[in-house]
This record gives sequence, C-alpha cells and structure tokens, in this order.
Amino acid sequence: MGEYILQCPVCKATVPDQYTNECPNGCFGLLQPQYQEKRFVIQKKHAGMFRFTDWLCCHGTVLTDAGPVTYRSENLGPELGLSNLYICFSGYWPERQANLVTCSFKELEALPTMQRRLECTNSILLVASAGNTGRAFAQVSAYSGIPVIITVPSSAVASIWTTKETDNVFLVTVDGDYSDAIAAGNRICEMEGVIPEGGAKNPARRDGMGTAMLDAVSVIGSLPDWYFQAVGSGTGGIAAWEMAQRLIRDGRFGTTLPRLYLSQNIPFIPMVSAYHAGRREIIPDTDMPDAENATGKVSAPVLTNRNPPYSICGGVFDALSATRGKMNAITNDEAKKAGAYFTRHEGIDLDPAAAVCVASLMQAVRAGEADRDETILLHITGGGYQRVREDYHLLPVEPGAHIGKEESVKQVCTQIRQWMDAR
Ligand SMILES: [Zn+2]
Repeated sequence: MGEYILQCPVCKATVPDQYTNECPNGCFGLLQPQYQEKRFVIQKKHAGMFRFTDWLCCHGTVLTDAGPVTYRSENLGPELGLSNLYICFSGYWPERQANLVTCSFKELEALPTMQRRLECTNSILLVASAGNTGRAFAQVSAYSGIPVIITVPSSAVASIWTTKETDNVFLVTVDGDYSDAIAAGNRICEMEGVIPEGGAKNPARRDGMGTAMLDAVSVIGSLPDWYFQAVGSGTGGIAAWEMAQRLIRDGRFGTTLPRLYLSQNIPFIPMVSAYHAGRREIIPDTDMPDAENATGKVSAPVLTNRNPPYSICGGVFDALSATRGKMNAITNDEAKKAGAYFTRHEGIDLDPAAAVCVASLMQAVRAGEADRDETILLHITGGGYQRVREDYHLLPVEPGAHIGKEESVKQVCTQIRQWMDAR
C-alpha cells in the first residue's frame, strides 16, 4: 500500500494529497510523491502494474492484470546488431501477458489516477485528450464506475471505445485540434464539481507511466543505459527519470541514470527544436511555426501537444539535462517503415507513436550514438490494435455533446450538469 506526501521541487514544501496538483506556494514545478517505502518492492500478491503499488500515487489498489511487460528482444535486437535490447511493451498482446486492452500506455496513467480521485475528492475529473488518453480513462471508468468527462477533437471520436457498456462517461467532441479540446475542457472545469485531471502535473499519471521503468528493472536486474520513447508531452520521459532516481536511491540497481532518448514526429517537433538549440523555453515562432498546419501532417497525432511540460521545474528539459539525454525527429515515412519492420520481426502491430520510437532507435544506432553492447530499453507505448479485435467487441462511446464553431460551451455545461444531477 502506497504511503506518501507530495513535495514541491522548487520550494521543497510538503503537502498531503487532496488531489493536489499544484504547489500551495504557487511554484512552477511538478509536485513529486515522497514514498514512505524507500526500497523497490514487488508485491507479488497483486497482478500487473499494482505489483508496484508502494510507488504508485494512490493508497489502494485496483483489481486488474493490466501492466507493462518487458522482454529481451530475440529478433529485432540481433537484427539491428544490438546485444542487449529490451522491449517494454505497453499494449495488448496476451501471448506475452500484456493486457492493456485499450492498446496504449495511457491506461497505466488512468488506473492509478482514477483510484487517486476515488480516495481524494468527490469532484468529477475532466480529461482533455487527443484520443489515447480519453480511451484509457473511458475504459477505466466503465469498469470502476467512477464517472469522467472527456473532451476530444471531433476527428478523434473513433478512437474512444471501451470493452464494456458504460453510462459513466460524458464525451464531448470539439471542432479543431487537440489544443481546442484542451481549451474547451478548461472552460468546462469552471463548473462546480468538475476538476481538471491534471495532465503531466498529476503525479499519479507520471508514476503510473513510470511502472514501465520498474517492470524493466525487475526483468533486467539493473537500470538500463538508455530509455527510448516517442513524446508528445514528454511525461513518459519525466516519469522514467523520476523512477530511475528512486531506484538509484535504493542502491541495488546501479548508480547511473539511464540516458533518455526522446523523439518527435516531423513536421511538429517543438521540443526537439528547443532542446537542440540548448533552450529551456519553447519559442512558438521558432520551434513550432505554423503549428495548426503542422499538427495535421504527422502520422502520430498523439504526439502533438503545443504546451508540453518542457520548461517547468522537474519537467522534460530538466529530465534530459540530468540524464545527458538526446532527442531526434522522425518523418512519417521513416516511422511507417520502422513500424512495419518491427511487426515483421517481433510479431505485433504498433501504435503510430511507437513506430516513431522504433525509427528513432534505428536512427540512433545508425549514427553510432548508442553502443551496440549497451542495455537499451525501447518503450513501445502502444500496440495490439489488430490483436485486440480478435478477443473483444469494441464499443464506441457515443458523444454526449458537440462543440462546433457556433455552439457555446455554456450550452454544453448545461447538458453536463443534467447528466451529473441524474447520477
Ligand atoms: Zn513550491
């Protein structure tokens, strides 16, 4: 059982968790859980990600076998000339005991977050999503009965499904891109009884994702030399770094932080652009010119966050700097080829963002940046979309409201209020 308090990385103030995502002193930093348990413990009585419950930002556990699954690559690794390639698969692949039925690592965030919400507040969480996060929260809501409000761009509505009928989800479709879904979500959060889920600022999400690093270390026996992931907000990179620090403090798994190797999808690469320029700040005109157009051209739309937690204390820039990290940028064509190559050698279909990550690894190996005998952890953040259809009937979540150019958010809030009152 996880016992913890939250600490601000800037002023070091500690605060008990009341679904608190901001420092009470107003600092610009990501609150970090300080766990009572200082050693890395695997609770074998639980399954999936809740084996790591001592380092999850909620007190109780959820009955689930969903979790990340790490294995040593017997095919892709040797094919690329890598002797120690480990793949952490966060998706659906029952032959490898990978049971994230929504096929995305976002389920690792949604499970502890919904548990944290249950323990800390009666308010209903609002999740703004480009697709995968919304699906993960919808699925967890369907099984737990904990209600959630989700805003997504209209173009992403097909990606919101569950494997169980539910009336616990209020889905709002928004004309425009991910940023418009976020803006609409912020307006809805002005309603009494509705709070923002928190995104990267929500420590339950980060530590949920950080279980990828914990699962990998439980298999490898030590920290890897490199951690590869494709990033939209970069929260997965931050999470890997935060967990690695806890593992180093434990003392049994090595003394060197894994170097983060994070990638984005051309033409939308704000963090790659800023980091290569050595800047902590993202300058919109320089790093993401014509953003509206660029976000529509990538093969992995989940990687298009215009306001990533990059500059914030404890954010992506700090994580990359502390780990001597690297970033690269991948074209749609490179991602597509890499995804097909992965499927051919490892035998499972990938989320487009995971294909970007595979291409990033291939590029880094070609450039001689990662040594062939180093231990490399490749986090496949989604996959198994074809596989899951063999086992489950996927039920689309019907939108409860739509926000177009004409509709006002106020009108939608009235509908949401009626849904809340009827519960
Ligand atoms: Zn503070």
